[in-house]
Amino acid sequence: MADTGEAVHRVLIIGSGPAGWTAAIYAARANLNPVVYAGVPKQDPAPILPGGQLMLTTEVENYPGFPDGVTGPEMMAKFQQQAERFGTQVVGEDIESCDFSQRPFVLKTSGGESVQAHAVIIATGATANWIGLENEMRLARSGGGVSACAVCDGALPMFRDQPLAVVGGGDSAMEEASYLAKFASTVYIIHRRDQLRASKTMQDRVLNNDKCEVLWNKIPVDVLGDEKITAVVLKDTQTGEQTEQPVKGLFVAIGHTPSTKFLADSGVDLDDKGYVVLPVAHRSMTNIEGVFAAGDVADSEYRQAISAAGMGCKAAIDAERWLADAGLE
Ligand code: NAP
Repeated sequence: MADTGEAVHRVLIIGSGPAGWTAAIYAARANLNPVVYAGVPKQDPAPILPGGQLMLTTEVENYPGFPDGVTGPEMMAKFQQQAERFGTQVVGEDIESCDFSQRPFVLKTSGGESVQAHAVIIATGATANWIGLENEMRLARSGGGVSACAVCDGALPMFRDQPLAVVGGGDSAMEEASYLAKFASTVYIIHRRDQLRASKTMQDRVLNNDKCEVLWNKIPVDVLGDEKITAVVLKDTQTGEQTEQPVKGLFVAIGHTPSTKFLADSGVDLDDKGYVVLPVAHRSMTNIEGVFAAGDVADSEYRQAISAAGMGCKAAIDAERWLADAGLE
């Protein structure tokens, strides 16, 4: 059983990505003695680790303050150290359910305990959807040229002037293809149907780009390459025919799933895709007073470490103000 030493936490933070740790740094420096439930590792089908999506990101080059780049895991370790330096308590467990109908709130942990908190910050992030192929996962984990984020990884030297592929037919796939076309030799868009889902404007951007070519009615069925990807094996969804498409990078853009299952029956409003709804624009409050959300769990649009960290900061400040107004400091 985790002994956090407090009967009722003033601020309990769920999640240990950039949003969770930033919320912890701010809450700890405000003397709120926050506790972070950092999560436990799981496989679903890709690994989900405490620290979040950055734990699967090899090189981060777009986070200000790291002019020479930093690996995702190293960055999350530094965030955690900074949060702990100011007294954040860290518990390596999941929160499995939340009862926000009583105050203080009561949360159930994966260790079988009930913990209480006056304010809760939800920062559990989202996970990129993967096709689920064994070699796709292996090369994504090893930095072998498979990624679920072109904006994060696409500008790496290994992809310059190379043939690359994006899987998906939505706005993300179009955005990633346009972005990659700036430095790739060719970008193949692998889509399982003969029509794109993306908005007309986003489609036009890709269809009018000489470097982009859509491979219609195709799904990847294997990824080839030992240390680095060399090709993707495609199956035609209409004829069943299999072909090999040589590429030096594969970017999977088939959507994200927010980590909000544990909020079922909690009363927190979620949108139709499961993201936490923030009813007041640019603020971190949810529909339940004293419950705040930050990072990708409440943001299907930007999904960047820096934007998640910014939201974590806002959530801690909002929680601090709410606790003060409620006389719970
Ligand atoms: P999305 O709209 O859900 O599109 C996912 C795409 O992946 C679809 O084309 C889908 O194919 C395909 N797909 C899903 N599962 C697959 C599988 N197992 N194998 C192969 N293909 C698969 O997701 P998104 O593109 O990430 O967009 C999410 C939201 O963010 C949308 O509301 C979007 O408008 C928004 N967004 C906006 C912008 C922008 O405006 N700048 C940029 C990015 C995202 P089907 O079409 O056959 O279902």
